[in-house]
Amino acid sequence: MSDSPLPRVAIVGAGPSGFYAAEALQKALPGLRIDLFDRLPTPYGLVRGGVAPDHPKIKSVTKVFDRIAGQPGFRFLGHVDVGDDISVDELRAHYHAVILTVGARTDRPLGIPGEHLIGSHAATELVGWYNGHPDYADLTFDLSQPSVAVIGIGNVAMDVTRILAKSPDVLATTDLAAHALAALRESGVRDIHLIARRGVVQAACTTPELRELGELDGVDVIIAPEYLELDDASQAMLEAAEDRTVEKNLAVFREWAERTPTGAPKRIHFHFATSPVALEGERRVEAMVVERNRLESDGRGDVRAVASGERRHLDVGLVFRSVGYRGVPMAGLPFDERRGVIPNHLGRVTDAAGSQAPLAGLYVAGWIKRGPQGVIGTNKACAAETVMQLLADHAAGALRPVPGSAEGIDELLASRGVRVTDWAAWQRLDSVEQGRGAPAGRPREKFVSVEEMLGVIGV
Ligand code: NAP
Repeated sequence: MSDSPLPRVAIVGAGPSGFYAAEALQKALPGLRIDLFDRLPTPYGLVRGGVAPDHPKIKSVTKVFDRIAGQPGFRFLGHVDVGDDISVDELRAHYHAVILTVGARTDRPLGIPGEHLIGSHAATELVGWYNGHPDYADLTFDLSQPSVAVIGIGNVAMDVTRILAKSPDVLATTDLAAHALAALRESGVRDIHLIARRGVVQAACTTPELRELGELDGVDVIIAPEYLELDDASQAMLEAAEDRTVEKNLAVFREWAERTPTGAPKRIHFHFATSPVALEGERRVEAMVVERNRLESDGRGDVRAVASGERRHLDVGLVFRSVGYRGVPMAGLPFDERRGVIPNHLGRVTDAAGSQAPLAGLYVAGWIKRGPQGVIGTNKACAAETVMQLLADHAAGALRPVPGSAEGIDELLASRGVRVTDWAAWQRLDSVEQGRGAPAGRPREKFVSVEEMLGVIGV
């Protein structure tokens, strides 16, 4: 057993997993030095840049994160790009342990012809744009298009569809980025086609998010009753389901299938057992070719979509693929290309996918550990599992000895001219944002450029 003093830990990525990892460490070893890094000057990761602006209750988890940030030994080092300003190896030379909680930064492509035409976007781009994430704030989307497709039926697809369909007057009461609000006020989008490659039973979204689509003012939801006739494999899947989400989703779809369209100005059309096979157009998307699928048992309790050959055109001028996020490799670290994660065993980074040989003092938690699934709370147990391995390694004396001083990292960053933002700086920015939003009855008006943020903070 180690009787070494408290370890110094660096956590990279100030989203939910980063904060939950910090919390688990603080509970086990009160007062230990935790430096939480983020490449943006602001904390909270996807809670600020991903969670839909009209879901303020989900965003209120930041109060938990603020409590964690207030614990002794905790520091936030914002606007530090690990991999660019400083390497993972340099961090490993200054901390006994490094936990990577960098999330899944990119999107999964569909791999179909025409995917790169103008007007074809990753849903994650729209999400970043309407949330004022600095990486996406300058993007433009042709919202003059009357007909739009959203591919996939997970919760991101729900968010994107809802934001496109919702009244801008309602969105104006949220922290949706000002540029996005202005663009949505001018939007000509009337028909949104949700394209799901499998059936109603396999819809990846959760019921509250689904139900919201049917509660929007000025929006008809349209689903053909034929989609509710379950094939044998889907029926078996429904009966074997471990929770009630599928059953509750089905009840929502059934109720919608009985509705008569009201002639509302906007419509959300559901297309099940349908896959996009090509986007067509000269330079920009003018249509999408879709193919009907047959649903079959995969023999392992799941259902797979099999192309039927029956194709048709859908006239859409804007397409958002919402088929999942994907992690990106970090320089000098192994990467599991197949799963888009850093290979690990229970959170200990290993030398290769499938291996259990750990790289001493290096850990992962959250989406870069297990892939892009689960809600914010899922990351709490995930981070706790990782921290348990770290604590066991500490107790066993297996963490790397650290030659550098605690201040070494600050000196290194200063020597490179990195303009680091701390927690107090974030709090100043936070209160300026809230002050900017208040006159219009909004929770905040976000700054969407890093330079502007640094100017306000004064670093
Ligand atoms: P997701 O839940 O994994 O959904 C991805 C969707 O894309 C599925 O419907 C999937 O269909 C479909 N898909 C995948 N590959 C496809 C392909 N090649 N062609 C056509 N469709 C394809 O991913 P997500 O929506 O990005 O969400 C990520 C995670 O964040 C989820 O755990 C989600 O619950 C969470 N989240 C939660 C909230 C919230 O709580 N409000 C909001 C946003 C996100 P198959 O099932 O057939 O693979």
